[in-house]
Amino acid sequence: MIEEEILECPYCGEAFTTLVDWSAGAQRYVEDCPVCCRPIEIALHITADGNPERVSAARDDD
Ligand SMILES: [Zn+2]
Repeated sequence: MIEEEILECPYCGEAFTTLVDWSAGAQRYVEDCPVCCRPIEIALHITADGNPERVSAARDDD
């Protein structure tokens, strides 16, 4: 199940669209911001019964 999600870059604050693949379950990966090109850590959160919960975007430079 691939869905389009709108996230906000934690560095420059710009909203951007990304495709997330919920069929792979909870996961964490890094994608470069399309605006400022800095690495954003994207995390997919799954509920206890296995449904998509939310997507978060965090800085990867801490
Ligand atoms: Zn950015």
